[in-house]
Amino acid sequence: FDMNESKALLMLKLRQNGVSNPEILKSIETIDRSSFISKNFLSRSLEDIPLPIECGQTISQPSLVAFMIQQLEIPYRSKVLEIGTGSGYQTAILSRLSLRVYSIERYKKLVDMAKIRLANLNISNVIILLMDGFFGYSLQAPFDRIILTAAVEEIPNLLIGQLKVGGIMIIPVGLSNQKQSLLKVVKTEKGLDIKELMSVRFVQMKEGLVRI
Ligand code: SAH
Repeated sequence: FDMNESKALLMLKLRQNGVSNPEILKSIETIDRSSFISKNFLSRSLEDIPLPIECGQTISQPSLVAFMIQQLEIPYRSKVLEIGTGSGYQTAILSRLSLRVYSIERYKKLVDMAKIRLANLNISNVIILLMDGFFGYSLQAPFDRIILTAAVEEIPNLLIGQLKVGGIMIIPVGLSNQKQSLLKVVKTEKGLDIKELMSVRFVQMKEGLVRI
């Protein structure tokens, strides 16, 4: 098992999947996914697959993380809201492209672990919050960009309210175990421009906190 070869394969696959943004490619290349994964799955950290993490959640597939972040079209010096920190892997990639990232997670254990992982990588422009993502983060609103990594049944109005005009939201929408669509929502003066990007399968967003 050759680490460099696996990484080269992953990078090739990202390019084949249309990920061309050099900053995103560089971030995926330099941020070690293995530090976000539990020991049992370490050997598979460079494979382009989702993997189980603590609390019954999953770390997303690297190519999907890269695609979603590319679709966010993050402008220079942006304030980004991420809902569903999970392992913190996508948060780490976002941190390289943003001025500041606010990331919300409902499991205390995942919040604590992600904080440690990001600190170990010397990432200091991220704030991870134990909160229910359905409420967003009004204290820092409005945001330039909002990204959700758990699926909702419909686009939450409250979160649209926390997005700047001209801002973009990437959001999986659909019912559990049914077809979900990854949507790109652009907030304009007149309303929302909504584009369907692809079919996806994310965990469903759930209400309330889990404090253990
Ligand atoms: N992008 C993450 C994967 C996250 S999986 C990674 O790279 O690891 C989706 C996450 O959304 C899970 O951790 C889940 O606990 C979280 N989540 C679900 N409902 C939520 C809510 N209401 N508020 C905040 N986080 C939520």
